[in-house]
Order: sequence, then C-alpha cells, then structure tokens
Amino acid sequence: TEAVNQPDQPEVIEGGQPDLFSKFDPLIEMRRNLLDSGVEDPFSLVMDRVLSPTTAICNGRETILLGTYNYMGMTFDPDVIEAGQKALTDFGSGTTGSRVLNGTYSGHKAVEQALCEFYAMDHAMVFSTGYQANLGIISTIAGKGDYIILDIDSHASIWDGCKMGDAEVVPFKHNDLEAMEKRLRRIPEGAGKLVILEGVYSMMGDIAPLKEMIAVAKKHGAMVLVDEAHSMGFIGPNGRGVAEDQGCLDDVDFVIGTFSKSVGTVGGFCVSNHPKFEIMRLVCRPYVFTASLPPSVVATACTSIRKLMHAADKRAHLWENSRTLHAALKAAGFHLGTETPQSAIIAVIMPDLERGAAMWEALLHEGLYVNLARPPATPANMTLLRCSLCAAHTAEQVQQIVGMFQRAGVKAGIL
Ligand code: PMP
Repeated sequence: TEAVNQPDQPEVIEGGQPDLFSKFDPLIEMRRNLLDSGVEDPFSLVMDRVLSPTTAICNGRETILLGTYNYMGMTFDPDVIEAGQKALTDFGSGTTGSRVLNGTYSGHKAVEQALCEFYAMDHAMVFSTGYQANLGIISTIAGKGDYIILDIDSHASIWDGCKMGDAEVVPFKHNDLEAMEKRLRRIPEGAGKLVILEGVYSMMGDIAPLKEMIAVAKKHGAMVLVDEAHSMGFIGPNGRGVAEDQGCLDDVDFVIGTFSKSVGTVGGFCVSNHPKFEIMRLVCRPYVFTASLPPSVVATACTSIRKLMHAADKRAHLWENSRTLHAALKAAGFHLGTETPQSAIIAVIMPDLERGAAMWEALLHEGLYVNLARPPATPANMTLLRCSLCAAHTAEQVQQIVGMFQRAGVKAGIL
C-alpha cells in the first residue's frame, strides 16, 4: 500500500539525467485536481492559536478539534505545563546529544521509571518518537534468518521497521486469527519469530482480538510485540492498553507506545520484561544515533504519565463520549468503520476522495476539525473522515459535533 505508481519511462531533464521527481507525478496531479475543484487544502491547515485541548483558531476560525489524538486532554494540564517550564529553566532547551553520550539527564531516567511503574514492567526505553521506537526495536530484534509475522494494516512505522531490518516479512489479513496461524505454521523449524500486532488500528478505530492472537503466537514459539499507541492512557483498567483489557499483557514481550497521543507531548517508548532488554540501548541504531528528547519534553511526559495512573474518571467520560458520538452518527445515516464503538477513534467512511474532501471542508466551515485520511494510508482504498475524541470534550460539545456532521453531510451530498 506504500508505493506510488511509477510511470513507464522516467522523464529526462536537461543534461540527459532522469528526473527523480517524475515518480510523484500521479500524486501531484491528484492534488492539483483536488485543489482545482476549489476546496481548502486538507493538508495545509494551520492552527493559528490553540485555546484548549478541544478548541483552536484554525485558518482564522474558532474550531472544535476532533482529530488530534489528544485522547486524555493532557496538553493543557497545569501540572504538566509547570513541569515543562521548570525543566526548561533548570536544564535548558535541549540535550544536544545521544542517550548513550551526553543526552541522558535525570529527566530521561525519571520518565523511564514512570513508564516501568505505569505498565508494571521491568524495563523501559524512551525514543525521540514512537515512529523511531518501532523502527528501532523491530529492525534490531528481528534480523537475518528471523521471521516477522504482521497484520497487513500495520502502521507505516512498523512496515518501515521491517524494511530497515533483515528479517523475512510475512503479512496476514487484518485481524484474521486463522490467516496468522497459517503463516506461523509455514515458518521453518527453529527460526526466530516475531508477531507484530496493534491494540487499536488507527484508521478504522477497531481493536485486535489480542488474547486469541497472542495465545496462537505463543503456541508457535513466537515473541510478540504490540503497538498500543492509540490505547495507552484510555483502554484497560489502568490505561495500559488493549492487552491489559483482554487480560494478556503478561504474554506480550514488547509494548510500543508514544507520548504524542494520550501523554500529550512527543516521544516514543518500548517497555518489556525481557531479562536482556537493556542491551538494546547499545545496539538499537534509532536510539543511539539521534539526539535525545529535550528536558522539558521528558518532564511533561513524566508528569502526564503519573497523572494517567489515576485517571479512571476521565477514561469513563471518554468512553461516554465515544459511545454517544458513535450512536448519533450511525443514527444520522453515516457509514462507520466499526459496528460498535471500540476505541476513541470513529472512522466515517466517505464514498470517494472528492466527496470526502467536500465533507471535510464543509465540517471546517461549520467549525469542526477532523482528519481526512486517504489511500495509501487507509485500508481498501477508502477515504475516511477520522474523528478522535478527547476526555476533555464536554457532553455539549459532542452534541454540537453531531449537529455539524448532519448539516455538513447534507451540504456535501453524503446524507
Ligand atoms: N504507532 C502507531 C500505531 C501510530 O498510529 C503512530 C502515530 N500515528 C505511531 C506509532 C508513531 O507515533 P509518533 O507520533 O510518536 O511518531
């Protein structure tokens, strides 16, 4: 799903060299056609001011935010902001160095300790983004002669981690337990195996049957990595994710997560109980060969993670928001990514890119921001309007959102 169509013959520019940009021509044309139709560019929205976790001035208009992944609304938490400001004053604006050289400050150790406590696991390793956490862990643990068995709808960072390593990559149909087992059975005896799953799949907002899938993976002697980017802080009794919710976290060898969603800042991590996990700090290139996170970022992350350990009320309110919006959009006649609400993401399926873009723009004019997602990021070539709810959305805001969807749906010819 990642490739852009290659033209048959590369264009030749002056001097007889092929123009390396000609492979992007189909995409350039698609974008031009979309903008020629007169819609606002969905990929160059500017947040002029951010007023709260749920409201901002976007392209000059006051807008409700419904596409930010800011699930727990931690970005404006006063304790989080204070911790960041203090660290900025005490430690400066950046570390200017790798974690294994001059880039480990007390704040990096503190956030790793907070993660160990949050997940009740022995080891935590923090990366500069979640993207790099997947890139680093996957490419380092699965090497030549090993096999990676992964869901075909895996996030781009998982695919890129596979591409960066030397393991054989074996995809299986999305959330299909039988297909996964069939692939596992065919792997040569004695080969190293890593099964990669996600708790919540971010395009459709559906969850994985982790309990069953992990049991099968273990039966075949595979190690298991679960990306819980979209469930941390929200799903599970302690917010540890879908694996916790389904009672199988103890069987997960590596949990990957991010600070860019519920935690409300930026950064990525892997937590594990593997007794040899610490060696990763010396061999994992996306950890070693890049600068560590700024002190203010790790301080905000640490404070936020500790507060998320005691956020049961917020979790309950977010579930309430998700259920209310899902039911109302379904009742209004929209086609949704899941039959029932499974996470804080609700995907509204559009008939095509043109009407999807028109609906996206109509919502923006109503004062609502959602994500427009299109192929190749989406499964089955779908155009989606992806809504991600926040624990800070009030019940009134959710009702306002429903009205906006109804009016925009009529205007864009979807309803
Ligand atoms: N994994 C998944 C499933 C994601 O959706 C994302 C980001 N959307 C990432 C990893 C990467 O996270 P980050 O923003 O921290 O790079």
